Amino acid sequence: MSLLTLSDVTVRFGNAAHAALDAVDLEIAEHEIVCVLGPSGSGKSTLLRVVAGLQAPDGGRVSLDGADQTGVPVHRRGVGLMFQDHQLFPQRDVAGNIAFGLRMRGASRDEQARRVEELLELVGLPGAGRRAVAELSGGEQQRVALARALAPRPRLLMLDEPLGQLDRSLRERLVVELRGLFGRLGTTVLAVTHDQGEAFALADRVVVMRDGCIAQSGTPLEVWQRPASAFVARFLGFDNIVNATVGDGTADTAWGRIPVPDGSARGERLLLVRPAGVRLVDAAQGLRCTVEARTFRGSRVAVLLRPERRGDGPVLEAECGLHAAPEEGATVGVVFTREDVVVLEGREEHPVPQERSVPGKCSVPGIHA
Ligand code: ADP
Repeated sequence: MSLLTLSDVTVRFGNAAHAALDAVDLEIAEHEIVCVLGPSGSGKSTLLRVVAGLQAPDGGRVSLDGADQTGVPVHRRGVGLMFQDHQLFPQRDVAGNIAFGLRMRGASRDEQARRVEELLELVGLPGAGRRAVAELSGGEQQRVALARALAPRPRLLMLDEPLGQLDRSLRERLVVELRGLFGRLGTTVLAVTHDQGEAFALADRVVVMRDGCIAQSGTPLEVWQRPASAFVARFLGFDNIVNATVGDGTADTAWGRIPVPDGSARGERLLLVRPAGVRLVDAAQGLRCTVEARTFRGSRVAVLLRPERRGDGPVLEAECGLHAAPEEGATVGVVFTREDVVVLEGREEHPVPQERSVPGKCSVPGIHA
């Protein structure tokens, strides 16, 4: 049975154009780590607040371990919460912060002390109990906040942008640590983030939200390999999207005829080509393009290509090795590899944009706004 079940959960605020949560169904299994991802305003925090009991739904139901939580107050739900600004109590030391929830539950002093030491070990801060919170670095504060949330052994741990305040390298390190820690403890986690890298590194399952609805749910690999819609694809930073007429094994597009995976749905569709599937060849072959920009991304280069003939479709991005990337202004040919082509569900509600100024932006939140 699922540990957490949301059935048809709806939350409306005033006269907003759309519900903050619109008939959401979601199940989380015990020991599962689920990350909810989506642009700002898509309903992620509202989802957490409803599960925690901080926000009553206008419709639908939240169940934990099969028990309906309607009317159950926050402190009786057995969920742990860790919010973005981790809100440690500045007047208490590290141990005082971690023991807070235990004290509220009437744990003995001995029990509190034992648990605090155990948790400090767990989060990599052994012996730090007497330190003042204000003396801690951002990463250490994060660990204390985590220890505090874990102290009462919640059956569900909820994290809201848990690493939002930290710099990137620390976040990347902590996210790996967190995943290891949750795996060892068997903690069930519902986390919310707008950072796809964080979500993909942490989660067993990613849930992408849009306008109060779940746009896609799947393992990080599934969502990455097969984004269900143009919205999800663009949110993940994939912008090579073009209208297509999909036939048997190929699709006709403004970029020419493109091979599509076997079994692709036919008809008028949208086609996504991941940048890795845009191969640069001699200018005499394939789609003739001009290199408009290059952006270095670690060991790869994102190359922005503009088809030379008007009507040859939107600009597209290729991914090249450091030394293989052509110079700006060069003319190249482009061919497409089948395994990086995805036929997306449905059609875009707005025309595919023809202009892009920054190659490979990470996301285009609110593209449909
Ligand atoms: P996210 O966490 O994805 O940024 P939220 O859940 O905070 O999204 O918000 C979803 C929608 O609900 C947004 O349109 C937001 O403006 C609205 N909203 C959230 N909280 C409130 C509130 N307390 N009062 C009115 N509107 C709210």
